[in-house]
Amino acid sequence: MSEKRQFRAIKGTRDILPPDSALWNWFERTAREVFETYGFGEIRLPTFEETDLFAKSIGAETDIVSKEMFTWEEGAPVTSQLQKWWISKHLGEFSKADREAVFSDQRPDLVVRRGQTTTVIEFKRRTLSQDSTDQIRRYRKIFAEHFPVGTPARLLFVFAEEPSPFVRQLAEANDVEIEVADIPGYEPRQSIALRPEATAGVARAYIEHGMHTLPGNVKLYYAGPMFRRERPQKGRYRQFYQVGAEVLGQSDAPAIDAEVLEMLLVLFRRVGLANTKLYVNSIGCKECRPKYVELLREELRKVSDKLGPDSQRRIETNPLRVLDSKLPEEQAIIEALPRISDHLCDACREHFAKLKDELKLRGVAYEENWRLVRGLDYYTRTTFEVTAAGLGSQNAVCGGGRYDGLVELLGGPPTKGIGFAIGTDRAILSIQEGANVPKLPGLAVYIAWMGAKTYPTAVAIARKLRDCGLGVELPPEEMKFKKSLGLADKLGARYALIIGEDEVASGTYTLKRLANAEQTKLNENDLLEYLESERRT
Ligand code: ATP
Ligand code: MG
Repeated sequence: MSEKRQFRAIKGTRDILPPDSALWNWFERTAREVFETYGFGEIRLPTFEETDLFAKSIGAETDIVSKEMFTWEEGAPVTSQLQKWWISKHLGEFSKADREAVFSDQRPDLVVRRGQTTTVIEFKRRTLSQDSTDQIRRYRKIFAEHFPVGTPARLLFVFAEEPSPFVRQLAEANDVEIEVADIPGYEPRQSIALRPEATAGVARAYIEHGMHTLPGNVKLYYAGPMFRRERPQKGRYRQFYQVGAEVLGQSDAPAIDAEVLEMLLVLFRRVGLANTKLYVNSIGCKECRPKYVELLREELRKVSDKLGPDSQRRIETNPLRVLDSKLPEEQAIIEALPRISDHLCDACREHFAKLKDELKLRGVAYEENWRLVRGLDYYTRTTFEVTAAGLGSQNAVCGGGRYDGLVELLGGPPTKGIGFAIGTDRAILSIQEGANVPKLPGLAVYIAWMGAKTYPTAVAIARKLRDCGLGVELPPEEMKFKKSLGLADKLGARYALIIGEDEVASGTYTLKRLANAEQTKLNENDLLEYLESERRT
């Protein structure tokens, strides 16, 4: 007999159940409403993308890319797909065993002899590299050495995807024939990753859909799960959720940054997030940051022996990240380091000053934090973080900043960008720990019907109340009166609507408010009107 096995959610993932899920929905709904009042539209992105997209935009040296991504390989090696295709198209049962001995140490993908003609075949995805041109030269040499002058010898390169005109020219110049395959269901081998964040996907979509031609700035928001292989703990999960927004376009006016921050704080106020703190910083641009980073590196090398192994490593890989350190013994050393605010170029200094003016103009309270550098490589100038109460050491509910070079880095046109991501899990945790947990409407009416003859009336009234948008529970089977009202209580219904045979006969029903047992008798019209007005309060 096979053993019965119970399954559990994988470590670092969790189920969000009612009634918590109602709080989640309300939070995300409120975010959508607020973002839409600022002119943002929703972008729904895939949850997985090419691994390279994240490696390129987030940075190969970051923790996220170097150790936290969930990745897998997709598709088959191009060479084997091409070989199968070519053999089935041209040669039927031809086998690789027919490889010519003379090529044994050169190993082309396929050698075919028909009559006097020997064809040497290489399979490629779509480009030729220096390697391929060296290969061509070696084959020519073998042809010259082993085949009598005048024997037809062909070099054929079979591509899985249309090669560029440059590659075609190169092939022609080297007297190489080209064939482009048409493989049904062709899928090249590629590495795919579950998204650890969404900004890279937004930038990819912006380029892919030519959104730079849209009028004005492109304002997009998203909501959904992200995946990072981190050590699970309170406020840190392997599947977690973010709600975020991005502004992409030609302008980098500080007013854009300020409006994004204003919007963020409007949302946090509306959802009752208590004790939030906004920290802002400027980390410069590609003009001034590299010089500061070098200076920082030099200063860090001088104190390297007093730092922990993580920080020591970062001196070389990413010195800015040392500023992020939470180790108590490193704090005094870090506080004495040179600060980026003293090393910004004029343009960055002015941008930061204007941002601060704009924040004041909008009544957005903030604190400057020169050590706020953020973990992702793509940030420039404005960076910010919001912390909230009740979260222990995972107290950042939102992080964001400017990423002016990202779209260009991904092969798009020069584009400015700024955005943020709110950690929904942590925002919800903080709301639940605080004093402002909203009372969300739950079950409004429980219909206590008794006697088979009352059932059709109960069904009809349930439908009408639901049409008014009320939450209604209609017991599927007849129950004893006391048991029925007990269940209404346990389900947290606000009212019980009592329908017995007398009520059906007289056309008036008893509505019982469960909190205080107050009862009213109402006919159907008055009942609907009363409950609808209740719903609106
Ligand atoms: P942290 O410093 O807390 O690791 P981060 O800098 O990695 O955060 P970002 O990449 O800026 O975070 O993501 C924005 C927000 O997403 C964070 O402020 C946080 O609220 C949330 N977040 C990030 N990683 C996780 C996670 N593993 N579990 C839950 N929420 C997360
Ligand atoms: Mg992190």
